[in-house]
Amino acid sequence: MRRTISYGRQTIDEDDIRAVISALRSDHLTQGPLCEEFEKAICGYTGARYAVACANGTAALHLACMAAGVGKGDSVITSPVTFLASANCAVYLGAAPLFADIDPLTFNISPDEVEKKLKCNSNVKAIIPVHFAGLPADMEAISKAARKRGIVIIEDACHALGALLRTDNGKWTRAGDCSHSDMTVFSFHPVKSITTGEGGAITTNDRKLYERLKTLRAHGVVKDPASFVNGTQAPWYYEMHSPGFNYRLSDVQCALGVSQMRKLDKFIERRRDLAALYSGLLSKYSFIKTQMVPDGRLSAFHLFPVRIPFRDMGVSKKEWFSLMDDLGIRLQVHYIPLHLQPFFQNEFGYRKGDFPAAEELYSEEVSLPIYPLLTDEEAGFITEAIISTIACAAASPKSIAREDRAGA
Ligand SMILES: *Cc1c(COP(=O)(O)O)cnc(C)c1O
Repeated sequence: MRRTISYGRQTIDEDDIRAVISALRSDHLTQGPLCEEFEKAICGYTGARYAVACANGTAALHLACMAAGVGKGDSVITSPVTFLASANCAVYLGAAPLFADIDPLTFNISPDEVEKKLKCNSNVKAIIPVHFAGLPADMEAISKAARKRGIVIIEDACHALGALLRTDNGKWTRAGDCSHSDMTVFSFHPVKSITTGEGGAITTNDRKLYERLKTLRAHGVVKDPASFVNGTQAPWYYEMHSPGFNYRLSDVQCALGVSQMRKLDKFIERRRDLAALYSGLLSKYSFIKTQMVPDGRLSAFHLFPVRIPFRDMGVSKKEWFSLMDDLGIRLQVHYIPLHLQPFFQNEFGYRKGDFPAAEELYSEEVSLPIYPLLTDEEAGFITEAIISTIACAAASPKSIAREDRAGA
């Protein structure tokens, strides 16, 4: 029996398990020395000066927005094609998400659409470009537009640990080095490039942001006597100048993170090989479109999104999904555009039709399984299954009848 194949999964080996066991035997279960070691490893890899590890990617986005000073009355620009957290982080602080439509070829936020939003909205505090599927967004164009207006850039690189971007002067930079942003956010959820179970991090080159992020991560507690408002009083003394959170990452998790970071390059290499294999296998079927990777960008291939024109082919995406599921292939769709969520519609007045490129992508997109442990043979099996099930779904009178009813 073939095992079921999900769209993504973790890679855990005996080294990882040993690292976690040894952390469990240490003095520190919550944040301790392994947190600093993990942060150092993130800095070493990305090239950022500072890293702050925290509870998860959503907490990282929340901390980054708060450190950026996002608050009531502000707007925060992000892509409608992302996970809920990229917009919720603004909402937590009383700000409004301002979506800007995507580029239909790269599936990333369109710099032209960002520019249009900036021209018509004077209250934009931050832009959160998302590196969709691991492909860096057009950071040079976005940062030009933002910097001349003094707007903070927070990269949502939850898909993109291991991605590379070539700058105008020809230098390759890593996602997370913040050469085009103020802060970059990562997630270590099991389907991401590396995992700590749950986990996240923010990188920055700005010392003030770094200090603020660390304070906010742990209740807003200030321990440096030089910063005290009421002067040094006693050894146990600390102050709180504004409330923070408990968004710490435990040393047990950081042990896993340190161990996983050592394998990150291998993980990314395997993802790139699989992406090349899929691209080759799918190139015979011109109706299937893959994500365009512009010159000067290397994706981390968190996802392998493809576009299939189901409507034109008379195929019900839902029916086809269940045919693939019957074969043990658990696909996923990234994402239901955020402006179609009831909350964003009710609270901020978004409507269906607002972002046509995002909606068009949603109707066609599926994410094929991609993760280091997926075999070449499985990728071949998945590709064949896509073609044979599409042929079946197109020929099935049941599926056509249902489509007709839906369209009537
Ligand atoms: C995974 C993800 C997040 C949230 O990360 P968590 O660690 O699950 O909280 C945010 N943004 C994007 C684009 C993601 O894929």
